[in-house]
Amino acid sequence: MELTAAELWSRILQLVRAGLPEQAFRTWLADIRPAGLSQESLLVEAPDQFHGQWLEDRYGPLLEDAAARVVGRPLRISFSVSSVAAPPRIPSVEVTDSVAPPKGNHAPPEVSPTMGGSGTGPRLNPRYTFKRFVVGGDNQLAAAAAVAVSEKPARMYNPLFLYGGVGLGKTHLMHAIGNAILEADPRKRVIYAPTEHFVNELVTAIQEGTTPEFRRRYRQMDLLLVDDVHCLEGKERTQEEFFHTFNALFDAHRQIVLTSDRPPKEIPGLEERLISRFEWGLVADIKPPDYETRVAILRKKASDDALTLDPDVIDYIARSCTASVRELEGAVIKLLAYSSLKHVEISVAMARNALQGVLGTAAHGEQRTIHVSSIQELVADQWKVTTKALCSPRRTKDLTVPRQVAMYLIRELLELPLVEIGKLFGGRDHSTVIHSIRKVEGMMDADVPFRNLVTNLKDRLSGPV
Ligand code: ADP
Ligand code: MG
Repeated sequence: MELTAAELWSRILQLVRAGLPEQAFRTWLADIRPAGLSQESLLVEAPDQFHGQWLEDRYGPLLEDAAARVVGRPLRISFSVSSVAAPPRIPSVEVTDSVAPPKGNHAPPEVSPTMGGSGTGPRLNPRYTFKRFVVGGDNQLAAAAAVAVSEKPARMYNPLFLYGGVGLGKTHLMHAIGNAILEADPRKRVIYAPTEHFVNELVTAIQEGTTPEFRRRYRQMDLLLVDDVHCLEGKERTQEEFFHTFNALFDAHRQIVLTSDRPPKEIPGLEERLISRFEWGLVADIKPPDYETRVAILRKKASDDALTLDPDVIDYIARSCTASVRELEGAVIKLLAYSSLKHVEISVAMARNALQGVLGTAAHGEQRTIHVSSIQELVADQWKVTTKALCSPRRTKDLTVPRQVAMYLIRELLELPLVEIGKLFGGRDHSTVIHSIRKVEGMMDADVPFRNLVTNLKDRLSGPV
């Protein structure tokens, strides 16, 4: 089936969107347009060079993976800059965090070699080291286990299974193990394979009748790193192959490290025997970083990249970005971009401006910090319902209006992302939240007493203490 560039791009976006935080998607991908398609590559256009570079470095492999899934063969994705004047790339920050980061200031549409042809798997990112990894209460066990594994491969925990949400450092730790092992002994055979890559390689091997080579290659490794094994869901043939690879390596006392977005038992469609193997060693989780860890990470990023960030800017970012380390990094990059494009110094005021819409800027209002819970409590009290019911998924009539108002106020006062707001109210999706907010706006237009009531609640929440 022939696809146009636009159709192909929209399918690629559909695939990657599912696996990305909505903010990241909106910030970096939603406005990218396809510009051309050939047999080997898809050209897409970024608004400026910084954006293009960022996309290429961070999302290149992901997009190419998705492209390969759509068209059933490897397809390069090249990035160009739309003809509007492109600002210079910001010096002194290297924004790469993907595998095989391209060095220096190369012009698009050249793309870095990623996980293309046979035999050349994705490489370890040299920046993902233990030294660059900030340990906090939320990743302590995972980090300690990773260090232990790198010091005594196959002797401590085999396999090491790390799990946690997106952007929390799983891939970083996994690469750090590989980097440390190679540093200690460069002869060690290390393979890093995102699960999708393993799957694609296997499919190709089956098509080309080269499964024996495929097996041999994997089974001669000293260290096997397989990233995002939740992607094995429902892929029976790959699971079967993976099971045998796992056993062969395990029996030969080789180290295996796996990551996933959830614990083995909760991966749907994963065979029992794999679940049980994944649990043989150590299963360690990584949780989102707390405030102190977020500050520590920001300080570390700043010093690693020779950036000066005022403590109050660090505090502002740390309070605004709570979901993941990737989000923190994204905020810093965005500030740098903004500062360079608009020629302004990075300050809290500027950060508030620049990060608007990108982040759930919950850190508004110096005079007074408003909490989600105080909004919910006030609204519940006003409508004489319990906070618990208000925040539950329950759909009774008496809860509809107060819930809509609470959502509206949270959006107005805290500017939380819609997805986050949905989560606060029994896991509703963002379209429900939009609908609720519009509903309240509509009622405020049409109904004066209602408008006065909502305005009054808003004033009480945001007024002086
Ligand atoms: P995951 O694989 O869990 O989705 P990554 O390992 O890709 O997350 O991490 C996302 C980004 O955050 C990477 O750039 C990584 O270097 C950075 N990062 C994550 N955790 C930490 C940490 N504890 N210290 C420093 N950087 C971190
Ligand atoms: Mg990862």
